[in-house]
Amino acid sequence: MTGLRIGPALIVPVTAEPFTGYVEVTGGEITHLGPSPTDGPAAETVATPGRIVIPAFVNTHCHTSQQLGRGLGDDVGLLTWLHERIWPYELALDESDSELSALVCAIEQVRNGCTLLADPGGRHVDGMARGIAAVGIRALLGRSAMDSGDGRPEGDRESTAEVLDAQDDLAARWHGTGLLRFSYTLRTIFNCSDELITATLERARELGTVVQMHVAEVPEENEHAVATRGVTTVRHLDRLGALGPDFLAVHATWVDDEEIALLAERGCPVSHNAASNLKILGTPRIADMLDAGVHVALGTDGAPSNNRMSMIDEMWLAAIVQKGVRRDPTVLPAASVLRMATVDGAGALGMGDVVGSLEVGKRADLVVLDPFTANFATAADPVSALVTACKSENVESVLCDGEWVLRERRLTRVDEAAVLAEAADRAAAVRRRLKL
Ligand SMILES: [Zn+2]
Repeated sequence: MTGLRIGPALIVPVTAEPFTGYVEVTGGEITHLGPSPTDGPAAETVATPGRIVIPAFVNTHCHTSQQLGRGLGDDVGLLTWLHERIWPYELALDESDSELSALVCAIEQVRNGCTLLADPGGRHVDGMARGIAAVGIRALLGRSAMDSGDGRPEGDRESTAEVLDAQDDLAARWHGTGLLRFSYTLRTIFNCSDELITATLERARELGTVVQMHVAEVPEENEHAVATRGVTTVRHLDRLGALGPDFLAVHATWVDDEEIALLAERGCPVSHNAASNLKILGTPRIADMLDAGVHVALGTDGAPSNNRMSMIDEMWLAAIVQKGVRRDPTVLPAASVLRMATVDGAGALGMGDVVGSLEVGKRADLVVLDPFTANFATAADPVSALVTACKSENVESVLCDGEWVLRERRLTRVDEAAVLAEAADRAAAVRRRLKL
């Protein structure tokens, strides 16, 4: 018997044409998509007249342990942001803080229709894993990996072997546990030796997971790479054999034509974080990358670098900024941006065969949107409006792996009000400890 029947609604599979009809889910898997339901009863039927059903968003860059640090990085330059705010903040967290931070972050992700996030790494991965799992969504976990370079705070200095061993240990514990997976990470080329980069690639490929790394964030990073390695970051990573479909290059804000061609040729995905880039790093040439055939996905980055942790906002911003940068309103059309936020995000995390679109056989991660709001109701093209007009308030219900994690705007697994009250107190306590 069918487990769950949702419809009638405007179904937007992303990898196929939208249609009015039904989605059915059994055992957490999408078993039917069509203009009519299958024959026979369903264990649960959810009537969704006038609603829009889309695949859940994939956030390819989301620092869950920075959620308690929202607002700590406003209006300061990158090096102040990193050395005086973020690293001390990360060091000030204990495992319980990290768990609460990840829990609040996961709540915000669900409220914005996201069920899969890639965390490039905090220090207390066990806490992060528990916080995310409590809300019931998927994550690619990571541990912040640094073995060299300036600026690292006291207490955060590990050898290459220590960095790798700690990640091996976490991979054994979390990769494939529930909806969680583990990925190896590299913080930046400023703080990762070539030995660490090479060994990380080896381990990730052995485990069959992706590597996440912040790449070409600021011009100073390329200058540092040239001074220490002889070429820019992207070129050097290619020399080390890093660039490929299993290497997620985060930001890629400062790359030239040759580097864009290299990313495309290697099939190396880029995580584009429009808000965080504009706030701190610069404006990457995303339209040029797409023209060159680079696989681009979207992400929010962390709360201190974006403040708005919403993939819905990211879609709108990514599109509108690139139209302005290129002075061409035809770049990044809505359908492409929707792909970047869903199926291309899943592909960038090595999960393109699992989630990211509505297809029979994929796991059931989807969002029911209520378009009956002032910002959406009059839209001429509802699919275009998903990118141009949609807001968090349109997210009505969210299904992850066939289970409702948000049902008619209520979190199903956690007491949201209690969590938020505790998190506000804890964030204030962390700020007091840091004297910020
Ligand atoms: Zn980041």
